Amino acid sequence: MPTTQPGAALRLTRTGDELRRDLAAARQAGLTVGLVPTMGALHEGHLSLVDACRRDCGLTVVTIFVNPAQFGRGEDIASYPRPLDADLKLLAGRGADFVFVPETEAVYRAGHATYVEVGGPALSLEGEFRPGHFRGVATIVLKLFHLVEPHRAYFGRKDYQQSLVVRRMVADLDLPIEIVVCPTVREPDGLAMSSRNAYLSDQERRRALALSQSLKRAGQLVAAGTRDARVIVAEMSALVRAAELTIDYVAICNPDTLAPIERVDGPAVALVAARIGRARLIDNELLG
Ligand code: AMP
Repeated sequence: MPTTQPGAALRLTRTGDELRRDLAAARQAGLTVGLVPTMGALHEGHLSLVDACRRDCGLTVVTIFVNPAQFGRGEDIASYPRPLDADLKLLAGRGADFVFVPETEAVYRAGHATYVEVGGPALSLEGEFRPGHFRGVATIVLKLFHLVEPHRAYFGRKDYQQSLVVRRMVADLDLPIEIVVCPTVREPDGLAMSSRNAYLSDQERRRALALSQSLKRAGQLVAAGTRDARVIVAEMSALVRAAELTIDYVAICNPDTLAPIERVDGPAVALVAARIGRARLIDNELLG
């Protein structure tokens, strides 16, 4: 039997109306509602957000939606993995309460014409290489916030820039939601977990390690006293190129604004994006 008792069973909902109805009951019972938005093809990175949400909140709502508005022309929306049955098993095993899996046509209904215009931290890096990406992200996240009305929403630091764009939107649009950003979950060898790692052949998988290794090298350089960001970027880039990845960007930035910085004299974030085979991978680490 479907239920709204927390932890009792995973309930799958397909429509916003149904979700709102179910959540209204939970809200009346006084439960703290937590939201974990995902595009599915779940791995331990996503599940760490579910764990964090369950620790903090009485009710954990996960959404699975491959959002067309955040994919550009020529990107991988058609081939993006959609292993729904496996995802549902993982979520049930981790004790999520609700999973909302809407049809695209129900999210972007006929005539949909309204999007969130993003600025500030959305403009550089991913914003340059994936024009329109964060506009699509902000739009779907805002829609999910309205549907679920969570007290807290959980995002991964793996998508560092996305977490800043969401925080900015929440502050700018006065949304009464606490944004919680959780650490990046990595494979034992350092590769950041990503649904897109499924695109990698064994050989590409080995070469892709250059991303996390370049970030580790950046940390070592800073720890050893290197302050010149150009030197750090050059070393990182050399490592990524040596593995024959095609770099989109390697950058050292202010962790709050993503403005590029010249000297690492305080907190900084190193970010890298590169293409390998049909995968485009991103990773980052805080420095200093
Ligand atoms: P996605 O399904 O790729 O849209 O990701 C959904 C959420 O999971 C986002 O907040 C991501 O930042 C987060 N996430 C993805 N990969 C990881 C990871 N390796 N560690 C932690 N969080 C992650």
